Amino acid sequence: MDFYLGIDFGTSGARGMVVDEEASIQAQVRYPFQDSPAAVTPKIWQEALFVLVQQIPDQLRREIKAIAINGTSSTVLLVDAAGNPTDAPLLYNDARGSLVLEHLRSIAPPNHTVLSATSSLAKLLWMRQQPSFSEARYFLHQADWLAFLLHGQLGISDYHNALKLGYDVEELKYPEWLEKLQIPIQLPKVLPPGTPIAQLRPEIADKFGFRRDCLVCAGTTDSIAAFLASGAKLPGEAVTSLGSTLVLKLLSRTRVEDARYGIYSHRLGDLWLTGGASNTGGAVLKQFFTNTELESLSREIDASKASELDYYPLLKVGDRFPINDPNLPPRLSPRPDNPVEFLHGLLESIARIEARGYELLQQMGADKLSRVYTAGGGAANDTWTAIRARHLQVPVVASVYTEAAYGTALLAMGGGIKGEQE
Ligand code: ADP
Repeated sequence: MDFYLGIDFGTSGARGMVVDEEASIQAQVRYPFQDSPAAVTPKIWQEALFVLVQQIPDQLRREIKAIAINGTSSTVLLVDAAGNPTDAPLLYNDARGSLVLEHLRSIAPPNHTVLSATSSLAKLLWMRQQPSFSEARYFLHQADWLAFLLHGQLGISDYHNALKLGYDVEELKYPEWLEKLQIPIQLPKVLPPGTPIAQLRPEIADKFGFRRDCLVCAGTTDSIAAFLASGAKLPGEAVTSLGSTLVLKLLSRTRVEDARYGIYSHRLGDLWLTGGASNTGGAVLKQFFTNTELESLSREIDASKASELDYYPLLKVGDRFPINDPNLPPRLSPRPDNPVEFLHGLLESIARIEARGYELLQQMGADKLSRVYTAGGGAANDTWTAIRARHLQVPVVASVYTEAAYGTALLAMGGGIKGEQE
């Protein structure tokens, strides 16, 4: 039997999942990072990768046909000709790129995805100004570098990771305006996610007991991997992530982009994964309630009745999607004495914001919403699911799987993206 390995590098640790030809999970392995995200170095990523692989039972490892890796989107690094990092990576949320944004604005098209302090391209421009830049030969994303450790080829990426580098995912080439930046470095060659790149390096295959012909495929980003795991496949199907923040993703035949709202589309084979992220979400609930309270109080809410409380739950001022207003104040009053009523108001209000988000995506041209899968800490809350279904007017279900590693294993199997193999 052939097996497929998906590896997920998140902020708190790395995970691996092995699936069989039927996409059933055969093994799961984990490597939690001991250090805070900022202290996790490429050396630790490398160790995590190899420790994960070693944890997979021998008999499964011998039959793995293909491997894919997802990294954290916009975590990037420079490496020398041998693939050794020349400086510390810039992590996904590093905003030092704000220092080069003005320059970038003068060259990139208005409202382009790269025009954000944390975009990969802004990070690359910032890196260019550092002394260590002269030693660098290749600019890579986290997933590209980790895959390189397995297949040994430098300078290869996928079009999910490369989106925020400015790669034109419609034309499948780097845009001409990028040349005006005259960056003296090898930008990665970009492949469709899941494309086989090369066999494992023979020394890696032998050392870890893999087949010599085990393939390493182009990877993806963490959030797309989680989307692939959800079970959503058809245009109109969406995944809401109810974690610390509220993240919406709607599969569509049309691409929608609007940097003002932080809306952009990833390419998924013949389709587009449109999406936006709001600062509202579970982090605000956590400010007022423990997880146990969230569970018990939610059970007392009558989900069929709408709460009249109209909040905009935020931790601090400002949101981008579905309301683009950096000065938008958190709205959390009036606060009723009864905690059940207060929680009802919060869940109802976040559900309204979610529905408004999907409306905005559809107004901009995305396909009509038909079904919403749900991931994140809030997905287990049946009361909230019922409130959301009332607002969204479509079936709301839990994601089939929520682990990014599972989605990436599907990618390695070649079954991750509709249309990719057609
Ligand atoms: P992160 O985005 O940090 O990975 P998680 O997906 O782990 O977040 O979800 C954590 C969030 O889920 C917390 O902010 C918490 O308030 C929220 N949460 C946990 N349990 C519930 C629940 N039963 N109902 C609603 N929200 C919940």
